[in-house]
Amino acid sequence: MTNTNGNSSDGGHTGGERFCSMCRRPESQAGRLIDLPMGVCVCADCMQKAMDWIETSNAGKMMTPDMWQQMQAQTAPTPPEPQAVPPEEEEPALDLKSLPAPHQIKAQLDEYVIGQEQAKKYLSVAVYNHYKRVFTNTMDEIEIRKSNMLMIGPTGCGKTYLVQTLARLLNVPLAIADATSLTEAGYIGDDIESVLSKLLAAAGGDVEKAQRGIVFIDEIDKIAKKKNTNQRDVSGEAVQQGLLGLLEGSTVEVPVGASSKSAMVPLVSMNTRDILFICGGAFPGLEDIIKERLTKTASVGFGADLKDKYDNDPDLLSKVTVEDIRKFGMIPEFIGRLPVVFALQSLTKEMLVKILKEPKNAILKQYQKLLELDEVRLEFEDGALEAIAEKAMEKETGARALRSIIEEFMVDIMYEIPKDDNIGEVLITREYIERKGGPVIIMRGQRRLKGDQD
Ligand code: ADP
Repeated sequence: MTNTNGNSSDGGHTGGERFCSMCRRPESQAGRLIDLPMGVCVCADCMQKAMDWIETSNAGKMMTPDMWQQMQAQTAPTPPEPQAVPPEEEEPALDLKSLPAPHQIKAQLDEYVIGQEQAKKYLSVAVYNHYKRVFTNTMDEIEIRKSNMLMIGPTGCGKTYLVQTLARLLNVPLAIADATSLTEAGYIGDDIESVLSKLLAAAGGDVEKAQRGIVFIDEIDKIAKKKNTNQRDVSGEAVQQGLLGLLEGSTVEVPVGASSKSAMVPLVSMNTRDILFICGGAFPGLEDIIKERLTKTASVGFGADLKDKYDNDPDLLSKVTVEDIRKFGMIPEFIGRLPVVFALQSLTKEMLVKILKEPKNAILKQYQKLLELDEVRLEFEDGALEAIAEKAMEKETGARALRSIIEEFMVDIMYEIPKDDNIGEVLITREYIERKGGPVIIMRGQRRLKGDQD
């Protein structure tokens, strides 16, 4: 360990030449580098600048109290006697032994995500293969391609939720980025490397951990090349080009705690080889492209009959091919780096009802738990759940609408119920959801009006 005086208490790091994360001078030129948390190392000249930056930037938020302590120890003018710091107790990181098999991953996803069977299967297998390769280091020996993924599905059908659930179950860091905010370096917006900054933040500054994390890039369809336009379209295509290196695996200088590189922001090197990239998007209009291709292929001899054969096919998206995605406007090199492609279904009314009540952390269960604390039982009629699902379908934002719809009427219930200690049960009816009546209130000791499960 080194300090500002250049003293070395444990000999510091050895290995290849290191660079100051602030001024980028090599150690041979800048003098002995000081290691700071989050993989940052700075020369003595840049120490104050680094301290100021950490205090004022987002990086400060990424620092745990231990990190601050460590940093203060590093920069103290006279170093205290070296003390043995007990290793931090952390949740065990994912390794080959703890890596669940695909069917186990899917079973865990089933507890939270309703439907989307095909997507869950694809995801489980791809994630399993990815981490198996990472942990056994077979990436270079046998040319197994990275299992980066492309998920296609309408808004609110669970794309982000699937990835979030997966990362939580596997205990790996996850960064979620929006493709529309990414720009080529030098333009206003986030640099492409900013997705890695987010991942590093999610890993608490631990570069090793971040390098085995997952990056989810949403709205990927928004960076498609624009069709039928006379204007020169550089933006979308350039961002796709910019992402190629990351997707495949490269070493990137990542700004710590910021979304773009600047002279004031320290950089750390990250390798993206073991990072799993998952891209998602709604791809509006893709169904027409698929339909056109299918109709064309099948039209020989039967043209007229088949023209609308695929019009109401709910599984049309699952018939997607690389060629369709290319036609949509994604460049071939980009698609080539996302070898696993699958589609998610639009949510049906039945699925929305299930989402309300079945997942481990279902919205209804959350409200029931809340009222249970007041010793009030909350029940929903089947008709009420259907009415909520019907309202959500109208909004066309998938399951996203469910919470806001429920919140709208639950707020009255949550306000009124605690007023009267005698209320023992509330039954939400379809009439109440449709604003044609009120909920059924049952007093303590009174017989239930509907059903008699008590
Ligand atoms: P998108 O496909 O647009 O990324 P999200 O994953 O963000 O949609 O879904 C929004 C919310 O809806 C999620 O946070 C989750 O609570 C809920 N949700 C969506 N789809 C499902 C599903 N299939 N099962 C359970 N919950 C879901």
